Amino acid sequence: MAKLSDIGERAAIQVLARIFDRGHPIGLGHDCGVVEWGDEYLVATTDVVNPRTHIPAGATPSQIGWYATAVNLSDIAAAGARPLGFVAALSLPKDTDIEFLRGLGMGMEECAREFGIAVLGGDTKESDTLSIAGTAIGRVRKDRILLRKGARPGDLIVVTGDLGRAGHAYREIASAPLKGELLGHLLRPYPRVMEGMFFSESGAVTSCMDISDGLGSTLAQMAGMTGLSYQVDWEAMPVHRGLEALPPAVAKDLSLYSGGDYELVATVKPEGVETLLSRYRTERRADRNRLTLIGRVGPPGPNVLVSKAGKEPLLAKGWEHFRPSRVQ
Ligand SMILES: [Mg+2]
Repeated sequence: MAKLSDIGERAAIQVLARIFDRGHPIGLGHDCGVVEWGDEYLVATTDVVNPRTHIPAGATPSQIGWYATAVNLSDIAAAGARPLGFVAALSLPKDTDIEFLRGLGMGMEECAREFGIAVLGGDTKESDTLSIAGTAIGRVRKDRILLRKGARPGDLIVVTGDLGRAGHAYREIASAPLKGELLGHLLRPYPRVMEGMFFSESGAVTSCMDISDGLGSTLAQMAGMTGLSYQVDWEAMPVHRGLEALPPAVAKDLSLYSGGDYELVATVKPEGVETLLSRYRTERRADRNRLTLIGRVGPPGPNVLVSKAGKEPLLAKGWEHFRPSRVQ
């Protein structure tokens, strides 16, 4: 009988999707599930974090708490929704230090507060290993929700922030324990909540997803929903500056195919892109990150990376659970 390690995370989700096949106003497979709530959708998402897959050695409890909260809010952001609250179920070994628990809670509180919500409660249970199952809820007008589908051929592709930041930190783990800023790149992702709401309100964004598993994997998942091709211009990519000193092939691999950046990638109606980019520049509060035009949506076909050297396939590879490797 096949094991999860044979099929990978996405096929495992398909096993469940065939069972949970009713009651979805927007269908399955998006960053959030929804229930109808008058003129709005109440959106919900859950994400579980544990040391084996997400928490590198040296991480502080407070960083772990922030991370477990932020990855959930990132999915709320991808839907263009306003966060409403967060709950978390904590599985903890019984010899956990009380200070660890306090730090974990403080990290969760800090992240929740940053995005104008509260930690509403949760559950604590004894377990052999640490695991944090977070759940975030939010709200968005029905006609303004952002889904993974909705793009049309000719739409343009934009991305927030820069890419390869977390991939760079992952790579550094191999040679030395991480500390300081690099550890922050892994464990303090800043969910693009304001940006997601900005996209939603613009009326110009046709689809959106957060980049938790790398751009290649993210665009492959969007293509899986629409059947369209997503073409990325390599020279336009906002590559994280920490990758500049690396061999170009390594920098390319990390910025396209490593997970953990939690930026948003969105498709935009061609006639709305100029206004979107200029409004983004002028209306955002602190200019914490940028918005970059990186490509366009094409007709059905494989995803493509275009560079001065020519065209090559933009692959679906990236982080996938139950698979043996993380970043090559
Ligand atoms: Mg997501």
